[in-house]
Amino acid sequence: MNIVLLGAPGAGKGTQSEKLIEEFGFCHISTGDMLRAAVKAGTELGKKAKTYMDAGDLVPDDLIIGLVTERLSEPDTEAGFILDGFPRTSAQAVALDAELSKLDRPLDVALLIDVDPEVIVKRISSRRVCRQCGYVGTVEDKVCPKCGGEMYQRDDDNEATVRNRLDVYNTSTAPLIDYYRGCDLLVTIDGDRKPDVVYEEVKEALGL
Ligand code: ADP
Ligand code: ZN
Repeated sequence: MNIVLLGAPGAGKGTQSEKLIEEFGFCHISTGDMLRAAVKAGTELGKKAKTYMDAGDLVPDDLIIGLVTERLSEPDTEAGFILDGFPRTSAQAVALDAELSKLDRPLDVALLIDVDPEVIVKRISSRRVCRQCGYVGTVEDKVCPKCGGEMYQRDDDNEATVRNRLDVYNTSTAPLIDYYRGCDLLVTIDGDRKPDVVYEEVKEALGL
C-alpha cells in the first residue's frame, strides 16, 4: 500500500507512521528525519537545509524532490511506503505524481490527520525527542522510557518557530488537501485524541 500522510506539524504523522511500520512493515519515508540526518552528518544537503529548518521555513522544492525521488528508487519501497512530511507544496505533489506514474506505483490513499492549530502549538512546545532512539515523548519524560537515553527539544520546536511552521502549513501545504480530494484519494481522521485511538481509526480507514 502506498500512503501519503497529510496534516499540520505535530498532528501525529510520525507517531502513526511508527505504529503502522511496526505492525505492517511499510517503508517509512520521512523527509524531516532524512533532513535531520543530513544536518547531523554535515552533508552538503544538510548545510543547505539547516537555516530553513531552524526558521521553520520549507527547504527548496528541488532539494527535497531530488531526495525523495532517490529514496523511491530503492528496492525496499516496492513493498509499500508511507510518505511523512512530503509532499508539502503543489510542486512537490505534481513531481511525486510524475515519479510514481513513471514507476507504475500509484498512491492508494492520502490520509489527513486533522488537529486544531492551538492544540498543536501546545503539543509541539512540550514535545521532547530521544537523542538515541528517536522516541517522541513530552517534557514529562525526563529520560527516554524506551532506552533510557537523553530527551532533547528539537531546534525548531520553540513557540515562535512553531507558529511560523503553522503559517507555512496553512499557506503552502493545506491546499494539498483539496488536491488529493480532487484525485479521490483523501481520507480524514480526527487527530485530537490519544494516539492509540487515532491509530485504530487509521487502520479502519486504510482497511487494515
Ligand atoms: P514537522 O512535520 O513537525 O514540521 P518535519 O520533521 O516533517 O516536521 O520537518 C521539519 C522541517 O524540515 C520543516 O520545517 C522543513 O524545514 C523541512 N522539511 C521537511 N519536509 C519538507 C518538505 N517536503 N519540503 C520542504 N521542507 C521540508
Ligand atoms: Zn530512546
